[in-house]
Amino acid sequence: MSGSDTLNRALFDDVMVPNYNPAAIIPVRGEGSRVWDQSGREFIDFAGGIAVNCLGHCHPALVKALNEQGNKLWHLSNVMTNEPALQLAKTLVDSTFAERVYFANSGAEANEAALKLARRYALEHHGEEKDQIIAFTQGFHGRTFFTVSVGGQPAYSDGFGPKPGGIDHLAYNDIEGFKALISDRTCAVMLEPIQGEGGIVPADAEFLRQVRELCDQHNALLIFDEVQTGVGRTGKLYAYEHYGIAPDILTTAKALGGGFPIAAMLTTAKVAASLKVGTHGSTYGGNPLACAVANAVLDVVNTDAVLNGVAQREAQLRAGLEAINAKFDVFSEVRGKGLLMGAVLNEQYKGKARDFLVASVDEGLMCLVAGANVVRFTPSLVIPEADLAEGLARFERAVAKVVNG
Ligand SMILES: *Cc1c(COP(=O)(O)O)cnc(C)c1O
Repeated sequence: MSGSDTLNRALFDDVMVPNYNPAAIIPVRGEGSRVWDQSGREFIDFAGGIAVNCLGHCHPALVKALNEQGNKLWHLSNVMTNEPALQLAKTLVDSTFAERVYFANSGAEANEAALKLARRYALEHHGEEKDQIIAFTQGFHGRTFFTVSVGGQPAYSDGFGPKPGGIDHLAYNDIEGFKALISDRTCAVMLEPIQGEGGIVPADAEFLRQVRELCDQHNALLIFDEVQTGVGRTGKLYAYEHYGIAPDILTTAKALGGGFPIAAMLTTAKVAASLKVGTHGSTYGGNPLACAVANAVLDVVNTDAVLNGVAQREAQLRAGLEAINAKFDVFSEVRGKGLLMGAVLNEQYKGKARDFLVASVDEGLMCLVAGANVVRFTPSLVIPEADLAEGLARFERAVAKVVNG
């Protein structure tokens, strides 16, 4: 196989910045929920590139869209608009609470835009004093300096000098604490409907309802970071639909491009008006190639067949994990929604999530962790039943390996 002699894991350490520690295997090809490495070894993919490959690898509809647009027009910049971007914005507006769309290239960028917009909006409508952003511990919103500071994991935000100010953190789902903290000084509240990186922790419905109400009372914008929960992941196009409330701003990325980098910030016409010409921008945001792929993603995902299929697959995955737990007693809980699922390790295996991930790769399964105590599963929304079953069988062997040392 070309390259495998010289393009190996050892080379990574010689030529890459050491901020990642990738696995030893190097995948070279994927199809549906299966992936093959340089030596031809096959893996089942329950990781989906961290909840990105929502239609698996090389889905024919996405390959077609990429090829067709690739032969037409790749990039213009925002000096001009383009047909795929207009179509994608129209689809997102028609399918959600939103009336206006801003395109970016990553979750962090969409969140950066959301936070800057919230600050602008507050300044325009209420004055300089209204600058407080409330966010939650263990939340994750990306790695730009503003978003990582709003995220609730000091390990990610410390060590880079002075941080952007006006940000306060609170325990997730702590409604009493929230009531005490929010005031007319609050500009925005940012949260994930299910904390992803923080351990697959769902928000209480009552907590979200009250947060919405208090934001309205204090003229604070509610920002839902749906970068991980969006685009069908939980069985609805966006997770907010489960709760009967809508945010003022929603960010979406990861699965939006099915593996092609694209993100969007969705909001109302009134809020959007504060991002006037020249206030914010991106060279690539809304580029025709990315938008063409995202249009194909939504054409497939935003259908009853795929969204209802998520609930069926969730049931199969949950039952499989519970059965493994009944045999080996390793989890205290299996939680999450749709195909965003976390198996929480019990006291005996606390801190060992990575051991389960490493054992899974040995058994031919790609999965994820969410912190040190949670094994995370985010397979394709259209993973075939047989692949789900085979992946669970491989995971069971991995669990047996960890349990038996
Ligand atoms: C992954 C993630 C981000 C960051 O997205 P990038 O594309 O890596 O910038 C932000 N918020 C949430 C909830 C995420 O899961």
